[in-house]
Amino acid sequence: MPRILLLHTGGTLGMAGGYPSALRPAAFFKTLKARVPELFALADIELELFSNIDSCEMQPELWSRMAAHLHRRLPRFDGAVVTHGTDTLSYTASALSFMLQGLPHPVVLTGSQRPLGEIRTDARLNLIDAVTAALRGPREVCICFDSHLYRGNRTMKVKVAEYDAFESPNFPVLGTLGVDATFAPGLKARGRFRLREKLEHRVFLLKVFPGLDPTLPLQLLPHLKGLVVEAYGAGNVPVDASLGRSLRPLFAEAQRRDIPVVVVSQAYRNGVDLTLYESGAEALGRGVIPGGDMTASAALVKLMHTLAYTRGREQVARAMFRPLAGELTPPPRAG
Ligand code: ASP
Repeated sequence: MPRILLLHTGGTLGMAGGYPSALRPAAFFKTLKARVPELFALADIELELFSNIDSCEMQPELWSRMAAHLHRRLPRFDGAVVTHGTDTLSYTASALSFMLQGLPHPVVLTGSQRPLGEIRTDARLNLIDAVTAALRGPREVCICFDSHLYRGNRTMKVKVAEYDAFESPNFPVLGTLGVDATFAPGLKARGRFRLREKLEHRVFLLKVFPGLDPTLPLQLLPHLKGLVVEAYGAGNVPVDASLGRSLRPLFAEAQRRDIPVVVVSQAYRNGVDLTLYESGAEALGRGVIPGGDMTASAALVKLMHTLAYTRGREQVARAMFRPLAGELTPPPRAG
């Protein structure tokens, strides 16, 4: 029988009644056996309790520990399933995708909108599909949810109270689990299985909005090692000094302090193109790094990761341009 490591971290899937009441580890395994007996027909499942938290409590230190744990344990299995709350699932999937390089087996994250013990729960199907994907899907960090397999670092939680909670706006699904389960080949394997679990935590995600007082983010800069700006549309931000809210001084100060600034879009689909409008070109001139079609969460976690392994703004820019785990569509080559 193939072997699957099932690492439980928490979330609605393992909760009972209203939060904070959660299924205890023993109760969770018992409920799992009672509610999803098929799981144990698919594979020899080894359950491990990593944590039992609402995913709003998930932190970068826990991503590093989780990655180290998976790096140690995964080679003894045919795949891993990580159960996790949906709120920060995309962040955790992004972190694991950057930290676990050259995966020998799939790592599939899943969760649910209704707890496993409840009637009409989506946890049963999500778990069965996640184990199926961990056995037959691509060797990547994926999210399996509502009959679809997604590249984890491309996802966004888009719904709070419907079962199809995740989408991957800029990248096709990696698998469909309908009557038949079909999977795409996924990323090409690159090198040996390596753990890169370090992160620089001193980063910030700034969403631009009409009325943003530019002096506020300016005051944050001395405390930061990197900044992600969620700009409008193609990557625009206000730069007209006569209107009093130009972000030009922020970019200039970041450049002076050698703090990398990555720009991503607030728009749901496509990505930034800083050459399109004057405002974007102005930012480019200030050394701002275009984040392409990365989601804001993937860009933020990638910046944390890149800053921990790379020195200097130029080097960070180069690393941010280069796809590390399929999180970014490389711009077409000129000519
Ligand atoms: N608040 C929960 C969590 O992220 C939501 C869920 O799991 O769906 O842990």
